[in-house]
This record gives sequence, structure tokens and C-alpha cells, in this order.
Amino acid sequence: MIDASVLAWPFFEERHRELARELEAWCAANLTSRYAGDLDGECRALVRELGAAGFLKLTVADGKHRPDVRSLAIARETLAYHSGLADFAFAMQGLGSGAISLFGTIEQKRGWLPRVASGEAIAAFAMTEPASGSDAANIATSAMRDGNEWVLVGEKTLISNGGIADFYVTFARTGEGEGSRGLSAFIVPAGAVRVAERIEVISPHPLARLTYDNVRVPVDAIIGEPGEGFRIGMETLNLFRVTVGAAALGFARRALDEALKFAANRRLGSGTLADNSVTQAKLADMALAVDASALLIYRAAWQQDVGGIDNRRAAAMAKLHATEAAQQVIDAAVQMHGGAGVTKGVKVEELYRDIRALRIYEGASEVQRQIIAKSLLKEVQS
Ligand SMILES: Cc1cc2nc3c(=O)[nH]c(=O)nc-3n(C[C@H](O)[C@H](O)[C@H](O)COP(=O)(O)OP(=O)(O)OC[C@H]3O[C@@H](n4cnc5c(N)ncnc54)[C@H](O)[C@@H]3O)c2cc1C
Repeated sequence: MIDASVLAWPFFEERHRELARELEAWCAANLTSRYAGDLDGECRALVRELGAAGFLKLTVADGKHRPDVRSLAIARETLAYHSGLADFAFAMQGLGSGAISLFGTIEQKRGWLPRVASGEAIAAFAMTEPASGSDAANIATSAMRDGNEWVLVGEKTLISNGGIADFYVTFARTGEGEGSRGLSAFIVPAGAVRVAERIEVISPHPLARLTYDNVRVPVDAIIGEPGEGFRIGMETLNLFRVTVGAAALGFARRALDEALKFAANRRLGSGTLADNSVTQAKLADMALAVDASALLIYRAAWQQDVGGIDNRRAAAMAKLHATEAAQQVIDAAVQMHGGAGVTKGVKVEELYRDIRALRIYEGASEVQRQIIAKSLLKEVQS
């Protein structure tokens, strides 16, 4: 649960505190002891339930307004604290539909966003290919104009919600220019795409390799103008970057709470593990890392929402610090639990698996460092 003192920070308005209270109550009532055997069914159910409860409205543009990043961050921190899968189901509705929210036509918004917000349609973001991950400018999937249609040919991999999505916002080469200048974004209904392979990862969630075998979509399936795909993709990622950090923060906060409980109860000699000064020093470091992440995340989210400030550096710092720090906090919590920490079914073991991919996707830590350094250097070089 989000620390009440955090919610008192000046970054927030009353609606944010209300959201934190409502979502915390929803999580406590709905996310305990769920059946985890049927991954696809569980994800579909989570999307439906989050939609029915009204929380998915936060993930899409509302009329003229882009999604509120502070609300997204609060939601992801809260959901991740309780369940990595619930956070995933929530976050992907935003990332998958983000290009439509930011750049879609009125018809595209009307056609998809209400269904994403209600949980009726599951969204996915298909950018990565076997030969281009971080290097998105090198996308090879092509889209050729043929009369009133676009024809897509290629392959995407590591696509979240692959296999359960209703549509894939797909990035493909349309050739207006070299590299990043020749890409476009398309809304591709799931029925047109072949799920070539389901991919299993250490923290289970629906993930797939997709093939586009002469997939035909109408000419109005393009988002924005031909050639704008790279910018559309990067702006979508930038909108949600801070919220990846917020999910990491939720995992880290949960790990700290689990460590505190465990240390206070675990007998060591004549006292408890928590009486030990080495344990206390570790707990202090963990709390410090959690608070520093929260400050970076909510600063970046506030900058993004209030506008007028280029927040790319702040967002990169927030994602980089929160994900790297969470890995360390969770590792410390596992260590403090001893053998129980690596035992299946124990929360910190799950967190240990949940956190890892966040340091890689939506811009690996090395890429965030580059964004930060380039932004700093631009100031002295201009
Ligand atoms: C669980 C999971 C879910 C995902 N979901 C999606 C999704 O929904 N949609 C989608 O399109 N993609 C998705 N991805 C793919 C993800 O975006 C890519 O894995 C990521 O962009 C890295 O690309 P790559 O795996 O090809 O690694 P590469 O780009 O080959 O990079 C390998 C490593 O090299 C290092 N590196 C990369 N760039 C630099 C640099 N500039 N400087 C220094 N070092 C660098 C980093 O350590 C990086 O991890 C997902 C990945 C995972 C693991």
C-alpha cells in the first residue's frame, strides 16, 4: 500500500489520494488467493474486472486529455504491490492503446478507446522484432500501400498480450526515409495476425512471437501520417516510462514490508533477526532506496502532467533508479528470508522473478543512461 506520507506530497491532488484509497480497497478485496493456473483466462478476467471497476479509464485519453501520469503511477504502484499480473493487465491496456490516445483520429479513438477502458478489448503494442529490440529504428516488418489497403509482412517477438489481445498497434516500415524516418504505426485486429509461438518467461504473463503474412488492413488503420511511426512509438513509450518505475516501486515496497515482517518475527539467538544491527542497516538502506524511487517517480509524473517541462530526463531517471533499486531491495528481502526466500509460493520469491524484466523492457537501463547523458550534454554543447 502507498505510504500515506507520500500521498501528502505536493505533487498530488485530492483525486489522486482518493484513487489510492479506492484501488487499495479493491486490491484487498479482489486480488487475494486468485487461481493462477490458467494464465490467459486470469489475464482476461483481470482486464474485465479492472474495467468493470472503472480503473482502466485511467489508461486511455479522456476527450482532449492525455492519460494522467500521476494516476497511472499510483495505480501501478498499488497493483504491483499486490499482484504483478494485475499490474501487467492494467499497464498493457495503456501501452497497447497509447498511440491511439495520443495520435489517433476521432474515429480510431471512438472505435477502440471505450472498449479498452471497459475491458472489452485487450490491447497490445507490437514493436520488437527478432533483429531489432532496443534499436527500434531498424524495424524490418514492412507495410506497402495497395489501393485502399496496407499490406503488412514481417515478424514481431516478445509481444505482451500476444495470443489474447484483440488488436496489436504494429510498427512497420513504409519507407518515407531511412531508418527511424521511414516507419508508420497501424491498428491491426488480432484475427489478421498469426501467433507463431507463445514465449514463457520467468514471471509468467501472455507473451508471443507474431507473424504478419500479407496482413491487409484498411487505409484508415494507420495512426498519424506515414513516416511518423517512430515518433509515435517513442512518445507512447515516454508517456508510460515513469509508470514502469512505479510498478518497480510497488514491488520494492512490498519486498520491504515482507522483510520487516519476517525480520520482526524470525528468532535469532535470544532475540529476533530485526534486533540485529546488520539487519537494521540493511532495512534502512532498503527504505532509503524505496523513498528515493518514489521521489523520482512522482516528480517525473508531476512534470509530465503539469506540462511545460521536458520531462524525458526525469522520466529516464525515474525508470532507471526505480527498477535498479527495486532489484536490490528485493534481493535483500530474499536474502533476509534465508531458504524461505527462494521457496516457491513465498512472496519475495515471486517478486524476485517479477522485477527482472522491468530493467530490460520499454528501454533497458543502459538506454535510460544514454537518454540522461545526452540530455545533460546537450545543455553544455549548445
Ligand atoms: C517480459 C517482456 C515483455 C515485453 N513486451 C513487449 C511488448 O509488449 N512489445 C514490444 O514491442 N516489445 C516487448 N518486449 C521487448 C523489449 O522491449 C525488448 O526486449 C527490449 O527493447 C530490448 O530489446 P532486445 O531484447 O532485442 O535486446 P537488445 O536490443 O539486443 O539489447 C540487449 C542488451 O544490450 C544492452 N543495450 C541495448 N541498447 C544499448 C545501448 N544503446 N547502449 C548500451 N547497451 C545497450 C542492454 O543491456 C540490453 O538489455 C518485452 C520484453 C520482455 C522481456
